[in-house]
Amino acid sequence: HAGRNNACFYSDILHLKSLGREHVAIQARLSDAIRLGSLQVFYQPIIHAKNGEVYAIEALARWQDDKSGWISPELFIPMAEKVGLIQELSEVVTHQSLCKLREWRDAGLPQKLMLNVSRSQLFAPRFVSNLVDRLAEFRLRPADVIIEITESVALTDYSRQLKHLKLLGAAGFALAIDDFGTGYSSLSQLHEMPAQILKVDVSFTQRLHTEEGRRVMQAIVQLSHGLDLQIVVEGVENLETARFLQGLGVQFLQGFHFSEPVPPGVAELWMRLGL
Ligand code: C2E
Ligand code: CA
Ligand code: CA
Ligand code: CA
Repeated sequence: HAGRNNACFYSDILHLKSLGREHVAIQARLSDAIRLGSLQVFYQPIIHAKNGEVYAIEALARWQDDKSGWISPELFIPMAEKVGLIQELSEVVTHQSLCKLREWRDAGLPQKLMLNVSRSQLFAPRFVSNLVDRLAEFRLRPADVIIEITESVALTDYSRQLKHLKLLGAAGFALAIDDFGTGYSSLSQLHEMPAQILKVDVSFTQRLHTEEGRRVMQAIVQLSHGLDLQIVVEGVENLETARFLQGLGVQFLQGFHFSEPVPPGVAELWMRLGL
């Protein structure tokens, strides 16, 4: 927010977690933030490994609390799920990001929007038709949006999920399996998923400095090719990693090396000019 070459830190999450009372107070403030519109959406580009062009942008919720400063989504998203605020929170994120997507389409920018959807949202009644309606309000189509489902969501409570994911697919949304490799994966189920994209979790990228880590990544890439899935590798933090992944045949890259999540104005610049 403060421009480049600045670092800022989220409030100490562990500290917040340890304080029961404080936690309750934070929940109340999250509720206010959602209702009063102080929640923001930042955007992180997903890059074509081949040419560095921006393929898509991922919408990521951001919350700056008056008292505690920036609070990590790793804290407030699970909190919102637990206390039943996730629906409202994601309506805010959806509304803001579709507004922006409309502006970007009007400016001739073709990039897709990647939206995170959590388990409880996926199972909410009329989730798919509501989302299609929201898109229509902005004269957008499901093909403009890629839905990211985390793997733990994607592979437990399996048949029910498959049904909901197929509804999303039938409505025209592309699906990405988020945080691949961190959940309870069953490879036999993976090929039945109506997904087009695998997003490989940052924990794999962080192990690429070891021989074993590189072999695991290579195996994941081969698996995705074999299953006709496109692949996004998250957590690309330097040029060496980007080059290595490019060499393996990874289609898309995401990470701080290209850009951290940024406010919409900056994201628009990246989309216009490339990175
Ligand atoms: P995610 O969907 O896996 O998002 C990617 C996370 O990796 C983001 O964390 C991003 O800032 C971080 N990241 C990006 N590049 C790098 C890198 O090069 N290195 C490292 N170490 N990390 C990188 P963030 O923004 O803190 O979000 C955390 C999680 O919160 C997200 O993980 C997602 O699961 C959830 N989340 C965020 N916004 C939303 C939302 O609107 N709805 C839902 N349901 N979940 C959300
Ligand atoms: Ca995601
Ligand atoms: Ca992820
Ligand atoms: Ca994650």
